Amino acid sequence: MKSKQSSSWSAAKSEELYGFKRWGAGHFAVDSDGFVNVHPLADDRQIRVTDVVDEAVGMGLSAPLVIRFQDLLRHRVIQLNQTFQKAIRDEGYKGEYRGVFPIKVNQLREVVDEIVAAGKEFSYGLEAGSKPELVIALAMHEGANRLIICNGYKDHDYIRLALLGRKLGKKVILVVEQLSELDEIIKLSQETGVKPMIGFRAKLQTRGEGKWATSTGENAKFGLNTAEILFACEKLKAVKFTQCLRLVHFHIGSQVPNIITIKNAVIEATRFYCQLTKMGFPMGYLDVGGGLGIDYDGSRTNFESSMNYSMEEYARDVVFNIKEICKDTGVAEPDIVSESGRAVVAPHSMLVIEVFERISKRESLGQKHQPKVKHKIVTDLEVMLKNKTKLGRLERFHDAIQKKEEAFSLFNLGYLDLENRAAAESIFWQICEEIAKEGTKTGYIPEELHDLEAMLADQYVCNFSVFQSLLDHWALKQLFPIAPLHRLKEKPSVNAILVDITCDSDGKISSFIDLQDVKEYVRLHPLNSKPYYLGIFLTGAYQDIMGDLHNLFGRVDEVHVFLEDDEPNGFYIEETLRGSQIADVIEGVQYQKEDLARRMKVMIDAATRKDQIKPREGVRLLEMFETQMLDKTYLNIDRTPARKKKKT
Ligand SMILES: *Cc1c(COP(=O)(O)O)cnc(C)c1O
Repeated sequence: MKSKQSSSWSAAKSEELYGFKRWGAGHFAVDSDGFVNVHPLADDRQIRVTDVVDEAVGMGLSAPLVIRFQDLLRHRVIQLNQTFQKAIRDEGYKGEYRGVFPIKVNQLREVVDEIVAAGKEFSYGLEAGSKPELVIALAMHEGANRLIICNGYKDHDYIRLALLGRKLGKKVILVVEQLSELDEIIKLSQETGVKPMIGFRAKLQTRGEGKWATSTGENAKFGLNTAEILFACEKLKAVKFTQCLRLVHFHIGSQVPNIITIKNAVIEATRFYCQLTKMGFPMGYLDVGGGLGIDYDGSRTNFESSMNYSMEEYARDVVFNIKEICKDTGVAEPDIVSESGRAVVAPHSMLVIEVFERISKRESLGQKHQPKVKHKIVTDLEVMLKNKTKLGRLERFHDAIQKKEEAFSLFNLGYLDLENRAAAESIFWQICEEIAKEGTKTGYIPEELHDLEAMLADQYVCNFSVFQSLLDHWALKQLFPIAPLHRLKEKPSVNAILVDITCDSDGKISSFIDLQDVKEYVRLHPLNSKPYYLGIFLTGAYQDIMGDLHNLFGRVDEVHVFLEDDEPNGFYIEETLRGSQIADVIEGVQYQKEDLARRMKVMIDAATRKDQIKPREGVRLLEMFETQMLDKTYLNIDRTPARKKKKT
């Protein structure tokens, strides 16, 4: 039975509603059957996401599932490098682009591997911000021309590792964040007889904007101020290390939404660069840090989830401004280093989650409670519901809220029974529903009534943890595009927010991308007996590694997908990574599974002796406990329909 509504809906309308074209950069689209497809190379080769999910399920994995599109990752590396190369050609710039990938943005070996391989022809290097990252960078790095940039606080072991890289002939640049590091670098280099390559991180006046803006300015925790830079220069000259100073670095924060900020920072840093060159240091590299954004909401604005520029504009502005100032000061144009992390890795991976339950206010509205003896508060509310048109919407909303609060006070004081309380609640929500409906008819919605839509939204319970898989949403309210992966030919008719399975009221997603500002709910389909999958997109930067163990859910299953024309559905899964087992996460907090099993055995034996449990059953229960510990931490969703279950 097809309703009129669903026949007037289309896959194209879904594509528009969820904004795939706006934020997808050519990588995401909806096909005419209503499925989401990924276009890893932004051409017409495509992979249907639910095909990947089905194949993963066939291999024993399940949602929550991270899918990495390795070709998309490779595509982004090539795109960034080619974009800078083009800007350099177009501007007639004399230096080269020598980008580095900041490992902290995604440390996974398969990710770093792919980036190193894709970056080979561009001499694309790596950036480390800590000892463990430097260990990775040194071992994964190939070639003599590709840089390794060392940022972050450094002790002597960090510096020794970097000097080891120099001994192997690698271009490892130690970026001085603190004056004290310079003394260590000089001392250890003299001891080991290695000639270091040194950079200075400048504390710029230019400030970042957006959520990650605290990396610059006088109070930034990193970098040298002007006086410190001069002092460091004198020190280098005094110990005859003048030839070692090769780079100026700045980083104004991640996801810089406004291109003006980037221009200003580049201008300021180039001035530093040129002055240092004139003081007799060889230099050669100008490092513009990270900050290149991702347009998460597709609005192309300077809103914090967006950016008002493209990668092309970014590259052109960086190249152009460096060139202008070098020309102005008569200094040779440096090689340009950028440390773009988010822009390279964010689009390549997505999280698939499964909705398994709908908590609906609207459904409970349907159940009309008729108390045997109606309390006056209930009849008052009924009058309000009937007299729809007498007062304005806002006034009726206020009155209804007041009555509802009154009902709760009466209940607490013992004057209202359960039946009357249920009736009051249900009529209150019916009034809200009426008011909201009138709003969509008339178009204009007063500020206060905006919340009403959100209050009335259903909760879709999803098998995942925000704390593990989407930490920046929880911590910084960062927005990610979210959409169903299938059924997109059907009109989505439910306003919903997403809640996770952690025992924490913060474990939810209640802000969504919108062309203007932020939306408080997302439109989804009603659930049926089949799995309903949602995709959370552009999650390849930072989220994987920052996830925590709240409620001990731990890592999720993961698959790495490659395009392959000869395979069915045009792809193959090259690698599967199992998510955490219960045993893994409890061992992380010092429990041994053997020890826990032994304790359970003692208790089961005791219960058996007391005849609370039969011996056979005891053995079975212990076995169940032990196999549970080897199972996954997330829910195993039972899809057997309730009717069928009863028969067995
Ligand atoms: C985090 C960081 C980056 C990466 O920034 P993105 O905005 O992700 O490109 C680059 N450089 C430094 C020093 C950083 O701390």
